[in-house]
Amino acid sequence: MNYTVTQDCINLTCIHNNRKSYRCRVIDRLTLIFIRRLHILAFQLGLVVPYISPRIIMQRERVADDIYVFTSDLYAQVTAGVVVTSEGAVLIDTLAYPEETLQVKRFVENRLNSTVRYVINTHFHADHTTGTCYFKGARVVAHALCRELLERRGRQSLERAKASSADFRDIELVLPDLVFDGGTFNLHLGNKTFQMWWTPGHSQDSIVCLIKEDRVLFAADTLMPLPYFVDGSYDDFMLSLNSLRNGNFENIVQGHGEIVLRGEIEDKISSDIDYLVTLRKAVDGALADRSPSASLDSIDIESCGKSRIALNGAVEQLHRQNVIALASQRRRELVQFEP
Ligand SMILES: [Zn+2]
Repeated sequence: MNYTVTQDCINLTCIHNNRKSYRCRVIDRLTLIFIRRLHILAFQLGLVVPYISPRIIMQRERVADDIYVFTSDLYAQVTAGVVVTSEGAVLIDTLAYPEETLQVKRFVENRLNSTVRYVINTHFHADHTTGTCYFKGARVVAHALCRELLERRGRQSLERAKASSADFRDIELVLPDLVFDGGTFNLHLGNKTFQMWWTPGHSQDSIVCLIKEDRVLFAADTLMPLPYFVDGSYDDFMLSLNSLRNGNFENIVQGHGEIVLRGEIEDKISSDIDYLVTLRKAVDGALADRSPSASLDSIDIESCGKSRIALNGAVEQLHRQNVIALASQRRRELVQFEP
């Protein structure tokens, strides 16, 4: 499988200058590291902060002849995919910051000489859908629940983002116009088949998208460095992860973080399922203790089999939120089963 990694650099004030001195490039890099740390802190605190870096560096990877993956350097390594077909391009998710999505758009139009005809929203969360409005002529595909959730919750969160940062002032909410609400949905465009199916768990409306001809799966947030179910359902997540087993995929593109290669896929899915199983046992054990709050606090990410360094450390915060969400779910269930 052809597998290359390149970096896209753009400058918001002037076009990227390849002749920049080595010293300038080192300073740019250090500035970016500092800015990235600020954004990670903001992500952990649940804030949206304005983009203030003079440059965006975004990773672009080519995972098949006509499939590209873009990974944000600014927001939790969120990913978007571009699949080029003989009848136009399909964009699978947008990126968190408008300038990043516009960079993807320019790449499709200027470098690939194509046009985005469909945008797939894998779920309603803002870091995956904010840039949909930049593709005016495209049809927008999603699960029916994604349309409902964007209408009900996405509109409010967009207003909040606009109030907190000028970066989002031009963003308009776009509701998907091609939705499905069960089973599998196939989109045929040119020489490609996009097979989508519902995988609730991370959120109620999550879907995954398989490029059938290439066996590349865009798993969105159903697969990320740490399963995160706070806005969805623990039990659904377990079922959805199991449904991805033995899929004979070439690569899986996670919603955040690195691409999972063929030889790593089954281990990755098993590791996520193990995390969920271990977490549940630990939460049940803590709830049975004399002082459940202290016991819940002591459930650390490593004891559940995951590293705390993924996503530049943001997974630690996600893990803490998982513990709280699962503890309140288990408390409700235990009350229900009391005689
Ligand atoms: Zn999400």
